[in-house]
Amino acid sequence: MKKEKKYQIIVLIIFFLVLIIFFNINKSEKVVFMAVGQGDASLIYTKDRTILIDGGPDWTVLLELAKVLKYKMKINDIVITHPHSDHYFGLAEILDRYEVDNIYYYGDNIGSDSYNIFINSIKESNIRLINVERGDKISLRDNCYLYFLWPIKGKDKDFDANELSIVNYFTCGKQRILFTGDISGAVEKRLISMDKNLEFEVLKSAHHGSNKSNSWDFLSFFSPKEIVISAGKDNKHGLPSPEAINRAKALRIEVQSLVEGKSYEVLIN
Ligand SMILES: [Zn+2]
Repeated sequence: MKKEKKYQIIVLIIFFLVLIIFFNINKSEKVVFMAVGQGDASLIYTKDRTILIDGGPDWTVLLELAKVLKYKMKINDIVITHPHSDHYFGLAEILDRYEVDNIYYYGDNIGSDSYNIFINSIKESNIRLINVERGDKISLRDNCYLYFLWPIKGKDKDFDANELSIVNYFTCGKQRILFTGDISGAVEKRLISMDKNLEFEVLKSAHHGSNKSNSWDFLSFFSPKEIVISAGKDNKHGLPSPEAINRAKALRIEVQSLVEGKSYEVLIN
């Protein structure tokens, strides 16, 4: 074989290897905590199903989604944890552009007029609007589920809109990730009393790293390896709170903050 031909074959093999690696990286199943400024948006991306939990405060979420989904314009499920703008305003931008099958919410968590208009527009669309509560689950694929832990219907009279945030956890293989919306310490206490046998690898910090959530008892009880805090720079409520961060550090929980504008990924093993 001529030297030139050999060279061409080697170049071709390298090209295809790079291509295979590139597509496998893109296909990696993962959870992405997206940096959307002052708000929350987390994407669970598996080969069979894509679930978005909250959509952040504005269109920033579109840029972050495009980084993960590339040209795929489909999101199977969206969970709205609660009716506050930093969690659902970005969803309107998403619904304009992406095909979405189902939206999950907690119907007894009452929001503002603009939230009601948004929910009514979903009801009039082709998207299924599904009311969820503790005990419900979504199956993503074999051994991968999203379980709903909170709220409990009928036992919510003392709680405000933040405290009625949907709390759910994603479990897949060895990975377990808890999403806590904007719950307070009072709800954390309830979860500890009900879910004694659960442990989590990763915790999406409650209420953007607030001092009124992320209690010592909650963090030590569920003992995650990492805590992810989603908040914007120069937050007017002083979030994330240094006290909450210090509690996590004292418990040797690694703190991943999105404040600097960089999303954080956890691969699903
Ligand atoms: Zn919030």
